[in-house]
Amino acid sequence: MKLKTKTNVFSFGVFALFFIVGWEFGFSPIKNSFDIINENAKVVEEKLFGLPQIFTPTNYISDNQYKTDILHYDLSFDLNSEKKLLKGKVVITGVVLGANVSNLDLNFYDNLKINFLSLNGKEIPYIHKGTKLSVPYNEEKSDTFQVEIIYEGTPKRMGLSAFVFGEINNRKVVYNLSEPTFASTWFPCNDIPYDKALVDVHITNDSLFTSVSNGILVSEKIMNGRKTAHWKTLYPTSTYLISLYSSEYVNYTDYYYSDISDDSLPIEYYVFPEHLDNAKKDFAEHPEMIEFFADIFGEYPFIKEKYGVAEFLWQLGAMEHQTITGIGSNFVSGRKYFNDIYVHELAHHWFGNAVGPKSWKDIWLNEGFATYCEVLYYEHKAGFDGLKSSMLSKYYTNFSGRLYDPGDDLFSITIYNKGAWVLHMLRWEVGDSTFFNILRQYFDEYKYKSASTGDFVSVCEKISGKDLTKFFNQWVYEGDDQIKMKLEWTVDSRKNNKVTVKIECNQLQESYKEFNFPLEIQFVDKKGKYQVEKFYIDSRQKTFLYELDFEPFIIAADYNNWLLADINVNRK
Ligand SMILES: [Zn+2]
Repeated sequence: MKLKTKTNVFSFGVFALFFIVGWEFGFSPIKNSFDIINENAKVVEEKLFGLPQIFTPTNYISDNQYKTDILHYDLSFDLNSEKKLLKGKVVITGVVLGANVSNLDLNFYDNLKINFLSLNGKEIPYIHKGTKLSVPYNEEKSDTFQVEIIYEGTPKRMGLSAFVFGEINNRKVVYNLSEPTFASTWFPCNDIPYDKALVDVHITNDSLFTSVSNGILVSEKIMNGRKTAHWKTLYPTSTYLISLYSSEYVNYTDYYYSDISDDSLPIEYYVFPEHLDNAKKDFAEHPEMIEFFADIFGEYPFIKEKYGVAEFLWQLGAMEHQTITGIGSNFVSGRKYFNDIYVHELAHHWFGNAVGPKSWKDIWLNEGFATYCEVLYYEHKAGFDGLKSSMLSKYYTNFSGRLYDPGDDLFSITIYNKGAWVLHMLRWEVGDSTFFNILRQYFDEYKYKSASTGDFVSVCEKISGKDLTKFFNQWVYEGDDQIKMKLEWTVDSRKNNKVTVKIECNQLQESYKEFNFPLEIQFVDKKGKYQVEKFYIDSRQKTFLYELDFEPFIIAADYNNWLLADINVNRK
């Protein structure tokens, strides 16, 4: 998911000024406000939320749910936009993995009324209360079960959107945004991100509507003025990535031709008719983006199906529903303003979707990665200066909260931007080629599955051959601080045309005792001659001598901005 924040754009000329002075100005390039482009579209139903707060009910997932593995969801939805009514028929096929499971528990909001429920073909009593649907279960462990549920009602508006019957310019739009735990507002499910399943989605609406979902379109049938679209995915899908869009869309198709698979991938766009021209301009770069990420991480993971983009009414950003990203209607401008959003959602198809999070504690593996992918794409387009300015645009002097297990604060700027900074610093710590090998290996090992932060750390250590315990502790698990350091230097001695410089580093940050990191120092003389050296800072106070064959006039620390650091350099 991408929440659009206001970012400053640095010209490379301005950037050059920061070349020497590093972070000493202590500026903060991001303002904490949303950049909403309002095209005077009449959008009904979508409220502009403040900073999103996601509260998942306590005990949302029961012990029984961890012992259940859903294999397949067959979801049928009949939509009535006028009455805002959803009629659902869901067939869930799964298997019980653990012993002592006396109930099959599913997540399902009880404002939706169940008309029929059967287990393995037999209608049975059940308990439906709050967010939980419990079905008594007496079968043996490892047996496959099938639950069929027929229900109806108007889904609750929750979280960032959940399930919406909306309207734009007097045209009805039905869509969802379930992340993280709101799929259960519109269908019963085992709403744990790692419990991925195959999915069939049948959407019935007025025959004027085009209905879109995950995977490929199997059929479209019209009966009595109603059209049913059947979508199917054979790739494992997390419940929060299951999607539905239905509106009077116009659609068009582009292609990504893969050298890797010798295959072509349709890129399908579903847009509001008044946005068609703008969409064609804005979305034109998608084949290049897919090719770029396929080259650096490995083939687009849903190559046998599609990549798709559908407009929806969430006015704060976009959502990476698997193979069918939702883009807020206000982020289609015709001026290519929002490439970073499109890149972000596409990149989630590698990190977030194919490699899913094992739990919501690992959300930075989704958002930090997709945010760093924006930076990588910018580097691809604009080179090393592009990389630097893009990282600067994601810099904050103080990121609050830690990355791992952020509680309900899943979508804070810390998760996105500090997450990207951690990957940037990991790249600096292990070197470029190792870093990209790590990402390729991590993707390859965990695609179509789920990974925890510990799984990622293991891949990093295996590929780099380094013990990265300190790195991940200080940036991900423990620290909510960042480097604040005073670097003082003086010429210690001059002998035989050699100059020895004494450098004293003092870390000043208050809550985190000691960061360890490689620090790049540039020594520059009066004529502009320079030398660059890398030193490892491994204590709060560190003093060392360094011999040069010229007399430095200026010393710059971390002038390439590899570190989440505020370093003040002074000559003593
Ligand atoms: Zn995202």
